[in-house]
Amino acid sequence: MKAKILILGSGFAGHTAVLHLTKLVGKEAEITVVSPSNRFTWFPSLVWVGNGTMRSESCHFQLAPVYERIGVRYIAGRATAIYPHARKVEVRGDDGKTSSESYDFLLNATGPHLNFEGTPGLGPATGNTTSICTVEHAEDTARHYSDVVRSAEHGSRQRMVIGTGHAMATCEGAAFEYLMNVDFDLRQRGIRDKVDLVWLSNEPEPGDFGVDGIEAIKGGSLVTGASLIRGLLDKHEIRAILPAGISKVEPGKLHYEEVGSDPAILDYDFAMLIPQFRGVYLKYLAEDGSDLGPAMTQASGFMNVDANYTPKSYESYRGDDWPATYQSPKYDNIYAAGIAFAPPHPLSKPKKTASGMAVVATTPRTGMASGIMGRTVALNIADQIHGKKPQHHERLSEMPSACIASMGKSLWNGSAASIVMVPTARDYQRFPKYGRDVKLSELEIGLAGAWTKRAMHTAFMWKLQARPGWSLIPE
Ligand SMILES: Cc1cc2nc3c(=O)[nH]c(=O)nc-3n(C[C@H](O)[C@H](O)[C@H](O)COP(=O)(O)OP(=O)(O)OC[C@H]3O[C@@H](n4cnc5c(N)ncnc54)[C@H](O)[C@@H]3O)c2cc1C
Repeated sequence: MKAKILILGSGFAGHTAVLHLTKLVGKEAEITVVSPSNRFTWFPSLVWVGNGTMRSESCHFQLAPVYERIGVRYIAGRATAIYPHARKVEVRGDDGKTSSESYDFLLNATGPHLNFEGTPGLGPATGNTTSICTVEHAEDTARHYSDVVRSAEHGSRQRMVIGTGHAMATCEGAAFEYLMNVDFDLRQRGIRDKVDLVWLSNEPEPGDFGVDGIEAIKGGSLVTGASLIRGLLDKHEIRAILPAGISKVEPGKLHYEEVGSDPAILDYDFAMLIPQFRGVYLKYLAEDGSDLGPAMTQASGFMNVDANYTPKSYESYRGDDWPATYQSPKYDNIYAAGIAFAPPHPLSKPKKTASGMAVVATTPRTGMASGIMGRTVALNIADQIHGKKPQHHERLSEMPSACIASMGKSLWNGSAASIVMVPTARDYQRFPKYGRDVKLSELEIGLAGAWTKRAMHTAFMWKLQARPGWSLIPE
């Protein structure tokens, strides 16, 4: 009998796992994917959709034809409950019908629930701000952005606030990219002097990006992301408010607390703010219907894996606190990867405001990291199918991160920051001075990055559609 592998979610983690599983055990296993909307989204390019410089159709493709071509069963719908003992998952299809899917191996790669409701007044649906976290959000943001542009062109001074909409949000890098692309576009249009740009972020310092900053050796000297980003903000005349947490958003008024200052209110005409991420609404149930959630997840709703979740002080965090195999400690046939797994702790230094609001840039699980985790899980499931113990590991403190942060899409006068960290999570046991190998790390700004970012869009859209040679393109 063929082993049944069930993948929940077809984003960077889930879809990458599927591609590798078809290669590793495609003949010995029946692979099923449950994911809503029949769509893969290439999120990195939404920073361009959000200011109207890229059409949204370029950033996504339909999954069903890809899965049909590679022999994977696809169910358009959402998992609503996992029954670990019975090895089945309850699914609500996009057509509204409920079904039950059994599995031998399960990967939870359901990504984030965008927790707009965590900040009163935040978000595009019922709130007063925009977002670039989905294709529809980015399209809506582009419409609001063109209103700002029109007003500025008619001489009305505008204030745009871009950053994080919750004191414990993540994805600061994407928001910063959007900020720099807006700045670039406004300059191209000749109206930058009509718009006040504000960067409001929960990072402890500029350039932290939720990974405790970046540094690299350049020309024999140590360059830090903090000095580079601070310099960029100064040069581009962007006001920075950080570390700060937003407590409430009213139409035209942001209520926020900055560490070391009194609570304050900022007027705005446009606000693109990333919400807090939480685990998606997914129940974990025993056979008798009792709730296994508290034992299988953290308070954030993200799923526990083989990480060290013992509470400890920031100074005591270790590289090997990070999960290696992404296997559930309770059920060895269940995994979680990408944003869906619960990080053991933040990488960035937590701060507190005078009123006691915890301001923490929570750990990003970027597309690259999520893809690497998806591949690791695929290798481990293949090990188990072949009767071996899962032996593949990729802790965040082992894997590098590479990021090309766009600062203007143009291939002639655009720019991007090219960032490489080795490893992503600092590991002072292996690298006592900086927690990273700063000689291998990179920090470079220039036109070459703009070309690389565009090339990555094309290469990854090719790879993720499982086109010939896809496996030659790394995660
Ligand atoms: C604007 C923006 C720009 C970004 N830029 C970059 C970048 O330049 N580089 C980079 O590395 N990262 C970038 N990221 C981050 C990157 O997109 C995420 O890290 C990555 O998407 C996480 O992958 P994932 O598979 O965990 O989640 P996702 O990619 O979000 O995938 C989750 C999947 O689960 C599905 N799902 C949700 N609920 C259920 C359910 N109940 N049942 C079944 N399926 C479900 C979703 O529909 C989706 O298919 C960016 C993010 C944003 C928002």
